[in-house]
Amino acid sequence: MKLLVTGGAGYIGSVVAAMLLAEGHEVIVLDDESTGHADAVPAGATYVRGTIQDRARDVLADGADAVLHFAAKSLVAESVARPALYWRHNLGGTLALLEAMRATKTARIVFSSTAAVYGEPERVPITESAPARPTNPYGATKLATDTALAEHARMHQTGAVSLRYFNVAGAYAGPDGRWFGERHDPETHLIPNILSVALGSAGPDACVQIFGDDYPTADGTCVRDYIHVTDLARAHLLALDACDPGLHRIYNLGSGSGFSNLEVLQTCREVTGREIPSRIAPRRPGDPAVLIASSDRISAERGWRPESGLRAIVADAWQFAQGLAR
Ligand code: UDP
Repeated sequence: MKLLVTGGAGYIGSVVAAMLLAEGHEVIVLDDESTGHADAVPAGATYVRGTIQDRARDVLADGADAVLHFAAKSLVAESVARPALYWRHNLGGTLALLEAMRATKTARIVFSSTAAVYGEPERVPITESAPARPTNPYGATKLATDTALAEHARMHQTGAVSLRYFNVAGAYAGPDGRWFGERHDPETHLIPNILSVALGSAGPDACVQIFGDDYPTADGTCVRDYIHVTDLARAHLLALDACDPGLHRIYNLGSGSGFSNLEVLQTCREVTGREIPSRIAPRRPGDPAVLIASSDRISAERGWRPESGLRAIVADAWQFAQGLAR
């Protein structure tokens, strides 16, 4: 297949692009490098640097079987500080993409949605029918985008799938041994933050801050559901087959089990063999205590199951982080 990957210079987009290439697909990456890195685009992909608004239509005019849409802003705190930026990039970018798809008769789209659309859950594991009540602009822009996709599918007979990711981590080694992984600036995520302290790249006196230990969980720290980025990428390939004309499907993607922040820290200590200093810091505003996915729908309908657990996720993220430090 010939596939347009928006945001293919970012973390998840570059991993999926690399895996698509390894499967023999033709890949065009479109990225404006607002947060991505040109050197993250896998060799073998055609790279177009630019915004969706400026370039998507031209790129799709050459023909594409489907779009995998990763390009978005994804920092919760930034979205609270600058909501208009998030609406413009996330919803506005997608509307421009849908318009380009309509003009070029591109029939399928798989979209990176998020667990953040559910906000503070009433119960876990979270199914796709749980109420969607985002608690920050980031989640709100993704939920609005899901709605736009559903409407576009209905109006224009496209096939659309929204994959609602829980906590994605880990890295991918391509067939040539090159690693693709997480490189955000600023980095806000727990596992890369822990590993940069383990490496010493956060500074000699740096220590991991664990945000809050007074949550209603077994050890008082937040619980999250981690999914390996390669398991996530496989789900995208399956989702392409789930793009049926006129339909918008939603699938949650997680492992179905949760790990507390202290358990993640302990796993990182075991995998790296390093001590990794840490301290308890105040709660981070807006963090729900427990987020765990039910991925029963994609499992039942598409046969998807995660293959890698937390230890493999951390081990691969560690390989990638060490490579970056060299
Ligand atoms: N977290 C932490 N220290 C960090 C980064 C994150 O204690 O340096 C916590 C965060 O408060 C949350 C969990 O780790 O409870 C997962 O946060 P992350 O930002 O990785 O993902 P999120 O669940 O917010 O999407």
